[in-house]
Amino acid sequence: MNKFGFQISRPRSINMDLSDDGRREQLLEEVPSYRLCIGCGGCTATCSAGQFTNFNIRRSHTALACNQTEGLAAQLDSCMLCGKCMLVCPRGVNLRGLIIRMRQMLGRV
Ligand code: SF4
Ligand code: SF4
Repeated sequence: MNKFGFQISRPRSINMDLSDDGRREQLLEEVPSYRLCIGCGGCTATCSAGQFTNFNIRRSHTALACNQTEGLAAQLDSCMLCGKCMLVCPRGVNLRGLIIRMRQMLGRV
């Protein structure tokens, strides 16, 4: 229990130095609309699963593109493929297709 009214949280940054261009290029090739993502976070803000779990779809697709896959498969299991994120995405990214492809890449499907 701290005495200062706050606690230090774990870093949530993504180390771009670990980026694997091959995996990102593969995602872009198979889900071309992913190229249009501007990282606005609209998908995360509206995500059904994110309201009840710590699942963060924007962080998930960015992490996979950067080859940071630790714990990612379990994260993606939270997605119900409801498609709500696609309704709000201002760039028309095929998020369901992206999630399915990410699950395949991680051996989850
Ligand atoms: S809402 Fe669309 S453009 Fe915004 S971060 Fe999500 S996928 Fe990218
Ligand atoms: S499809 Fe998955 S990522 Fe998109 S809103 Fe539904 S639970 Fe969230």
